[in-house]
Amino acid sequence: MPPKTLLICSLCSGDVEAMRRDIAAALTAGADGVELRLDSLGEPPSDEELRGLIDSAGGKTVVVTYRPRREGGQYDGDEETRLEVLHRAVRLGAEYIDVEYDVPSANWADAKIIVSRHDFRRVPEDLGRMAAEMESSSADVKKIAFMSFGPEDALRALDLLRAGRKPTVALAMGEAGALSRIAAGKFGASCSYAAGASGGEAAPGQLTVSELKQMYRWDAVGAETRLFGVIGCPVAHSMSPAIHNTAFDATGYDGLYVPLRIEPGRDNFLRFMDALLSRPWTDWRGLSVTIPHKEHALEYVGSDGCDELCSRIGAINTITIDSGGSLRGDNTDYAAALDALCAAMRIERQELSGKKLAVLGAGGASRAIVAALAHYGAEVVIYNRTLSRAEQLAGEFGASAKPLDAAGDSDAEILINCTPIGMHSHDRAGQSPLAKLPGDVKVVFDTIYNPPETPLLAEARDAGCTCVSGLEMFVNQAAGQFEIWTGQSAPRDAMREVVVARLSGT
Ligand code: NAP
Repeated sequence: MPPKTLLICSLCSGDVEAMRRDIAAALTAGADGVELRLDSLGEPPSDEELRGLIDSAGGKTVVVTYRPRREGGQYDGDEETRLEVLHRAVRLGAEYIDVEYDVPSANWADAKIIVSRHDFRRVPEDLGRMAAEMESSSADVKKIAFMSFGPEDALRALDLLRAGRKPTVALAMGEAGALSRIAAGKFGASCSYAAGASGGEAAPGQLTVSELKQMYRWDAVGAETRLFGVIGCPVAHSMSPAIHNTAFDATGYDGLYVPLRIEPGRDNFLRFMDALLSRPWTDWRGLSVTIPHKEHALEYVGSDGCDELCSRIGAINTITIDSGGSLRGDNTDYAAALDALCAAMRIERQELSGKKLAVLGAGGASRAIVAALAHYGAEVVIYNRTLSRAEQLAGEFGASAKPLDAAGDSDAEILINCTPIGMHSHDRAGQSPLAKLPGDVKVVFDTIYNPPETPLLAEARDAGCTCVSGLEMFVNQAAGQFEIWTGQSAPRDAMREVVVARLSGT
């Protein structure tokens, strides 16, 4: 069996005492070892201080790094002093010394050497040659880190792991490179580096030890793990990794779900998909797709790979990749919304036929819901701030259109809010999209899930209406994806719990 990939916590503490405390905290959080970034200390530590730091790791792996400015560190003194401190660290028992690629080889006695190279500005053009040179050095481990601009750059880091004969660390820095840090264990990296706490990152894009251990299933990931992810921009605060990795934990499915930040633009999406599909050895099985790439996803998969409603909606939020590399597209958003509504009303989808619905908003969420309601024969009126947008959408799906401020006079039995009014951190958070509830309304569905009860829903509850929260739709769309990808039934309660916990900040 290949050696386990170590989770190393990089510590950039400001002084020796703080570093000692940070070592204890990192090991408590579950790190397999620590990297002591001596360049953060200001002054070189004395023998006694250095021994104290190494010993306080209690036999866990210690990497000592004294990074000069030319390689992105903070040390700006003379090279002789720097190397002398590293030699002292070897003498005092450090297991690994990180030595930059341009340092002439020296006798490092018993220490294991990590030869490292960093580019904080770009992906080096000669990545392959650079890796080959480092491969032929006498070092025990080679480490290459470079800045990423899309998740396809993280795939290039995985290429290096795959090709390396010498133990290798390959990291794509920046948010877009997160995959290379999170999935390092699947591809046999020597280690991945993480921060002790958010704000304490030693390099751009580092996640914390707790995030890797708890949200990203560090201990469960291995060579057979299947990969999944969410494509979007932004994705940093997406709840999808938490909800899907929780589902894998709850069912014992060997999967890992990662964030994939792809900048807006069709070409960026296509470049990543082409790069992914040209690497079948990554075992990629599924992708969630969110704003702004849902339309690009439909185009990429093609309407032959989707159901008719996806094509009519013009967008998909789910891509499934089979073991032969063929793609299928789904839109679990519309199914999620219909199921949340029908479950609350205790009816089948077919029973929506002939029912009167008012839908507020004419954007992406509204489009998916209106298309699905029209498909099941409901009578829909779309109310929107920009009337022309409502008219266009209504025209496509045989609905009617009216201005948003006319919604209070609707004669609909069911009202669905697809605007962000009332959503946390929106400039109209804490408000309802309506001046008054329509008189005949009996069911109110707000697609917003943060907060789970919006002012609109609170008013509807007080008026005795059946209420449906966007939380149910959000859980349903993720559960739908899980079921398509794994063929297992989704652990909805565990998935809902993790979303509720994250929304309440626990
Ligand atoms: P979108 O494409 O940007 O559309 C937003 C719609 O809301 C547009 O019709 C827009 O009207 C209207 N709107 C925005 N700000 C407004 C304001 N201040 N006053 C009046 N109308 C306003 O967004 P989307 O993707 O459809 O998402 C809409 C909401 O759906 C999100 O905020 C989210 O809460 C919810 N959603 C929930 C889920 C879930 O799983 N629960 C999934 C997707 C979306 P104009 O046409 O006049 O600009």
